[in-house]
Amino acid sequence: MSEILVEVNNLKKYFGQKAGTTLKAVDGVSFAIRKGETFGLVGESGCGKSTLGRTIVRLYESTEGEVRFKGENVHQLSRKESKQFNRDVQMIFQDPHASLNPRMNVRSIIAEGMKVQDLSGKDRAERVRELLQLVGLRPEHADRYPHEFSGGQRQRIGIARALAVDPQFIIADEPISALDVSIQAQIVNLLEDLQHKRGLTFLFIAHDLSMVQHISNRIGVMYLGKMVELAGSVELYKKPLHPYTQALLSAIPIPDPTVKRERIVLEGDLPSPSNLPSGCRFRTRCPQAMEKCSLMEPEWKEIESGHWIACHLY
Ligand code: SF4
Repeated sequence: MSEILVEVNNLKKYFGQKAGTTLKAVDGVSFAIRKGETFGLVGESGCGKSTLGRTIVRLYESTEGEVRFKGENVHQLSRKESKQFNRDVQMIFQDPHASLNPRMNVRSIIAEGMKVQDLSGKDRAERVRELLQLVGLRPEHADRYPHEFSGGQRQRIGIARALAVDPQFIIADEPISALDVSIQAQIVNLLEDLQHKRGLTFLFIAHDLSMVQHISNRIGVMYLGKMVELAGSVELYKKPLHPYTQALLSAIPIPDPTVKRERIVLEGDLPSPSNLPSGCRFRTRCPQAMEKCSLMEPEWKEIESGHWIACHLY
């Protein structure tokens, strides 16, 4: 088994609100990502997956718990270590239009990280050219501005910017959600290709399972700030155990018309993370909820090798 690159231990990220309440966006999440793998993180919007990604990359301070990257606690790094961490770990965002400065041309956008990191060696212009080609764009695109590109091309620019500093770990936060379906597969293929060529490790965040199915080695499912199930992607698709994962999977159309899967429609809305249900936080929408579920929070446990779940049914 390959070595652990990222370790998240009982991580919590709370936000205080004006009304004096606390929004528990991430509420005690633990998992590890191995070097070279793609870890998919799924859940409805508002489940805390983006906050989790941003806390790992240190855009947010943690409230409790820790994130270790190559064994070091990322929220306790020295200045020098921080600089290296900011190089090793990069993010790709959902909306490439919003994350690219419209007043900068592509050359400046991609070279920006290189300047901040004070990279020496090859001439930056040459490196920008190489990166553009690597992500499937042309060298002459370097002189253009973000508005001159399609959504898919802008995401390629975002990927080139992330790669500019030679990262080891990339957090891709809904990188294909804002794109046309026809373009989504191209970006997923590009990310896979880059992973093989550069030995990258990915945390791939998405709101539905079909998007991460293809690309992930393992998948974690989040609900209201907690991880509720984690397994290898093949296992999770064949044998989803948590009622929430079963509902998410039932919504994915099966391409084979002879195979029928019953759709599980979840009742009710996602409760507020600042006013969580007692016991199991999924109980207000769970088709299999029982009395115990409102009284006790289910424990996060490994029920088979590598298959983790938090549910009183197991
Ligand atoms: Fe449903 Fe109870 Fe399991 Fe929660 S613990 S998912 S409410 S069966």
